[in-house]
Amino acid sequence: MEKIRMTTPLVEMDGDEMTRILWKMIKEILLEPYIELNTEYYDLGLVHRNDTNDQVTVDSAHAARKYGVAVKCATITPNAQRVEEYNLKEMWKSPNGTIRAILDGTVFRKPIIVKGINPYIPTWKKPITIARHAYGDVYKNAELRAPAGSKAELVITHSDGTERRALIHDFQSEGIVQGIHNLDESIGSFARSCFNFALDQKEDIWFATKDTISKTYDHRFKDVFQEIFDREYKEKFDDAGIEYFYTLIDDAVARVVRSEGGFIWACKNYDGDVMSDMLATAFGSLGMMTSVLVSPDGTYEYEAAHGTVTAHYRKHLRGESTSTNSIATLFAWTGALRKRGELDGNEALSAFADKLEQAAIRTIEEGVMTGDLARLSTLPERRTVDTETFLQEIRLRL
Ligand code: NAP
Ligand code: MG
Repeated sequence: MEKIRMTTPLVEMDGDEMTRILWKMIKEILLEPYIELNTEYYDLGLVHRNDTNDQVTVDSAHAARKYGVAVKCATITPNAQRVEEYNLKEMWKSPNGTIRAILDGTVFRKPIIVKGINPYIPTWKKPITIARHAYGDVYKNAELRAPAGSKAELVITHSDGTERRALIHDFQSEGIVQGIHNLDESIGSFARSCFNFALDQKEDIWFATKDTISKTYDHRFKDVFQEIFDREYKEKFDDAGIEYFYTLIDDAVARVVRSEGGFIWACKNYDGDVMSDMLATAFGSLGMMTSVLVSPDGTYEYEAAHGTVTAHYRKHLRGESTSTNSIATLFAWTGALRKRGELDGNEALSAFADKLEQAAIRTIEEGVMTGDLARLSTLPERRTVDTETFLQEIRLRL
């Protein structure tokens, strides 16, 4: 068989621990035999990030912007323990945070649905994708405790020195105060990423805030979304036959639970933090959750939603057999290859990505799966296989 050629490179961001092992196996077993892989390789493994003073992370994000499509392996976000373990020069920042800041992107998390792994909500037939705004609100707050007898005010000092004030509370007894902010520009980027992704997926998009209570703050989110939609997206949505739907957050959660799925749910920062964990759990396994960072200018970076699966890596290092689910990492690759194919008019590449996904899903639906899925599956006959055998079984079907 002649290998599929790629005209434009894919930005490849390698990572850490067990997912780094999966990465190599996926390439050797499922990609390189069929594709003349053309990637621009960046090693985001913690050792190399440390060696380059994290410059490699910044370079990889700029490469993603240049070529438009990247695929990323899970990476360690260092904490004090990791600084010691890897003898780091510094506690480097989260690579995902660095890349997201450079691309100004929004993260979309989408579950992969297979027969036998049933969502906890029986009406959910199709995936629900969560989009979380990744700037501001309670994550960039200022907060203080207020003693009895104190007064808390909100003060805005204009550039000419004039002030506007609003009373927060006259504290008769001890209490707490919090100040939060957001930026029209960031909300606008979030809105554009959401609308672009909805067009890309051909799915409706829902957005919800608490604008009835928060008449200035949350209402601004609602207005920015609506203005951008009406001005830049309405016609494109009409042509694609999809819809933008705004509702109150309380109404949204009720509708989500009653829905069949098959839409994108845009959330403010805190709502998205909480709701994405809820959805990931309700849909089944972390090993089946994909993630894609979409920038407002249309750069796509695909990855798994889970981390580096440290516990499995320790077993692997001890020479013990592991059964780590490679589906989310594999689908990061297929997502990136399909997008590369779409952008380059390379139908063979996109078709290969589809076939590889189908082979992977068929493997699980035929009862061959990793331990995390075997624990959840309702299939009467199932066989738990190790990390590499699972990939070989996908190759058989491919
Ligand atoms: P994790 O790697 O997602 O793993 C947590 C647990 O979830 C695992 O111990 C395993 O449970 C299960 N799990 C996750 N993915 C699985 C898979 N593919 N197959 C089977 N089971 C899977 O989270 P963590 O242990 O909290 O974090 C480890 C490292 O990853 C940290 O250094 C963190 O900084 C990093 N991290 C990176 C990203 C990213 O790059 N996007 C995201 C999150 C975390 P059992 O042990 O019960 O089998
Ligand atoms: Mg969370």
